[in-house]
Order: sequence, then C-alpha cells, then structure tokens
Amino acid sequence: MRLVLVGPPGAGKGTQAEQMAKRLDVPHISTGDLFRANLRDETELGLEAKRYMDAGNLVPDEVTVGMVRDRLREPDTEKGFILDGFPRTTAQAAALGDILDAQGLGLDAVVQFEIDDEEVVQRLLGRGRSDDNEDTIRNRQRVYREETAPLLDYYRDRLVTIDAVGEIEEITERVFSALQTRSA
Ligand code: ADP
Repeated sequence: MRLVLVGPPGAGKGTQAEQMAKRLDVPHISTGDLFRANLRDETELGLEAKRYMDAGNLVPDEVTVGMVRDRLREPDTEKGFILDGFPRTTAQAAALGDILDAQGLGLDAVVQFEIDDEEVVQRLLGRGRSDDNEDTIRNRQRVYREETAPLLDYYRDRLVTIDAVGEIEEITERVFSALQTRSA
C-alpha cells in the first residue's frame, strides 16, 4: 500500500503512521523526522532546514522534494510506504505524482486526520519538542490552512477522512475500516 497522511500539526499523524506501518509492514516516512535526523547529524540539509522549522514555516519545496525523492529510492519502499507530513503543498503533491508516475506507480489513498485547532494546542504543548511553543504552533496551523489544506481538494478522489479525536487504537481501527470500505 502506498498511502499519504494529511492533517494539521498535532492531529496524531505520526502516531497513527507508526501503527499503520507496523500493520502493513511498510516503512513510515516522516519528513519532519528526516529533517530532525539531519539536524541531529548537523548535515548541510539539516542546517538549511533549521531556521524554517524553528519558525514553523515550510522548508522550501526543492529541498524537501529532493530529500523525499532520495528516500523513495531506497529498496524498502518497493512494498509500499506511509508518507507522513509530505506532501504539504500542491507543488509537492505534483512532484510526488511525477516521482511515482516515472515508476508506473500511484497512491492507494490519502488519509485525512480531522481535528479542531484548539484541541491540538494543548496536546502539542505537552509534547515538549523545541518547535512546540504556542507562537510556532499557531503559525504551523496557519501554514496548514493556507498551504496544505488545498491538498484535500487536489486528492479528493482518493481522500479518506478520519475523525482524529479518541484513543490511539480506536483511531487506528477507524483508519483500517475506512480503507477497507473504500477498496471493497
Ligand atoms: P507537525 O506536523 O507537528 O508540524 P512535523 O514533524 O511534520 O510536525 O514537521 C516539523 C517541521 O518540519 C515543519 O514545521 C516544517 O518546518 C518541516 N517540514 C516537515 N515536512 C515538511 C514538508 N513536506 N515541506 C516543508 N517543510 C516540512
């Protein structure tokens, strides 16, 4: 299965992506995690990404797309993947479409995690990541509305919408039953 997860910061995409990756036996590819790994290793890409991440802004598309293209060349993605946090702009979605087209592949579904902004501010403040202060969170929410939400229309024919409020296991079940209904 090749899946993309979309949702505002704090919707629990990362947590669900991990559960889903385990169950489907495919890699979980999080662009946020890839950037953070680059930051930790102090790579050039990490240093470039840092100022955007600290402000809660998107890293420029060419940097992000190049990083994802490299990751999708790894052999473990042959059995599928769960993309978490990418694409985040329609330009990134078009680039992903090109990468997959070139291999004769497509996405099976795009899973949207729906949650209220106020609900997630409290969640994120409890997480303690360095970009999880209230100003940065509010900016990430704004960036989501302006730059990422248009993807929901872009992917409307493949979209599966999940209510992201509830227990972790309960939400995972919602995802799998919605995917099953869709492919049935
Ligand atoms: P969250 O979804 O909670 O905001 P992520 O870990 O997905 O957290 O992303 C953290 C930061 O990494 C983003 O605020 C952004 O700066 C950068 N980032 C992650 N994915 C992308 C992407 N697809 N395009 C551009 N920037 C990205």
